[in-house]
Amino acid sequence: MRHFAIVGSGPAGFYTAEALAKDYGENARIDIIDRYAVPYGLIRFGVAPDHQSLKAVAKRYDKVAESDNVRLVGNVTVGSDVGIEELAAIYDAVILAIGAPHDRKLGIPGEDLPGVVGSAGFVGWYNGHPDFAHLDPPLDGTHAAVIGNGNVALDCARILSKTRDEFQGSDIVGHALDALDRAATRTVTIFGRRGPHQIAMTPKELGELGHLQAASPIVDPADFPPPEADEGLDPGQRKSITILREFAATAPDPAKPKQMIFDFFAKPLRIEGEGRAERVIVERTRLDDGGRAVGTGETYEVPASLVVSAIGYSTPPMPGVAYDEAHGHFLNDHGQISDQLYCVGWARRGPTGTIGTNRPDGFEVAEKIAAQIGQGGRKDGRAGLDRLLESRGVELVTFRDWQKIEAAEGARARSGSPREKFTSIADMLAALG
Ligand code: NAP
Repeated sequence: MRHFAIVGSGPAGFYTAEALAKDYGENARIDIIDRYAVPYGLIRFGVAPDHQSLKAVAKRYDKVAESDNVRLVGNVTVGSDVGIEELAAIYDAVILAIGAPHDRKLGIPGEDLPGVVGSAGFVGWYNGHPDFAHLDPPLDGTHAAVIGNGNVALDCARILSKTRDEFQGSDIVGHALDALDRAATRTVTIFGRRGPHQIAMTPKELGELGHLQAASPIVDPADFPPPEADEGLDPGQRKSITILREFAATAPDPAKPKQMIFDFFAKPLRIEGEGRAERVIVERTRLDDGGRAVGTGETYEVPASLVVSAIGYSTPPMPGVAYDEAHGHFLNDHGQISDQLYCVGWARRGPTGTIGTNRPDGFEVAEKIAAQIGQGGRKDGRAGLDRLLESRGVELVTFRDWQKIEAAEGARARSGSPREKFTSIADMLAALG
């Protein structure tokens, strides 16, 4: 029998569990440990609440969690309730699947002013993440800004621009829905330090902006290279640019009170304001021969009382675990950090790709583990973990418990929503009775 501990119950953790269960069949016991009482990490706390079809992948993870050789161990924090080295003594292999929950810093003056929030916090706020449910971002101003040209920036800008009605069918938490409904936001400026050809947004997500009830996307036609330059792009990027060109060719709909302005070649230099964010000072950029943004020296200011920085994420270091400072994830060789210790997903390769990218990633690391540790170990596995947690008075939450929490969230949902999430661990545990 082989015993595996996977730390983190998001997509990377579940795909790795699926792969190990497949490789070892009945000869493996796999514990997926998560600090929260609810599983699925990015699916619950990261994927936008109005993208329910993306969240449907959780059904696949349910099946993994329900299989006999896999167990969810919720409400257990690795690092405080149990150490990595303790896990290594109990399990044959420990796989870190903790994602990349920390915001990359902008590194510009004014970044710490009230009203400037990282996308981890902003996304966590509208998704009911226990660490960010009380973020209370300022929505009293008419102007907001989002820094970054990736899909997370798009998510944040879209959520700021939707009407209450457009959240029908989503699982946005009630506190965010009410606050967004009361918000004074009329203009959301999305800053990209490079141009349309360099965006990291995907066509489906971009296309949605053309169909918002109350907001028009605005793109400056002068930001594009000649149309023939699009031919050299890969098909997905070409599709995105075609959509941006359509936005640029369409006048804002006068019936829509909100505007989403794409400000390309715009690099935020600093954020200013009296005691809170009021404006972003931006430098116009151009591309150098290597495709990097370089400042032109021309600066201007854009009003913004809320600034969301969506410029990528990093994995937090863990004591005693090798870390790649430059890239913000664990230092690893194709998923292996050290003897018995592995990483998968964003903790392995940084915050890139779609949810599905984590599947081959998990399967590759599972194969590597299988090749290195083979069959038949002498570790205690879950019995050892249970003894340790009991001795420390830590009460773990199982998959069955989570299903009870989920049922309670379903029962308190407002009409048209699949659930009203609990936003504190205490409320989740209280739902267990
Ligand atoms: P991302 O795709 O890496 O985009 C980060 C953006 O931030 C880039 O436009 C980057 O510009 C910009 N940036 C970085 N540093 C900056 C700085 N100092 N100043 C100004 N801009 C800066 O990251 P993400 O949006 O966080 O997304 C993470 C991953 O999740 C991606 O793979 C994304 O596709 C995925 N995701 C997918 C969906 C979906 O499928 N619906 C939704 C959300 C996220 P440069 O290119 O110039 O560096």
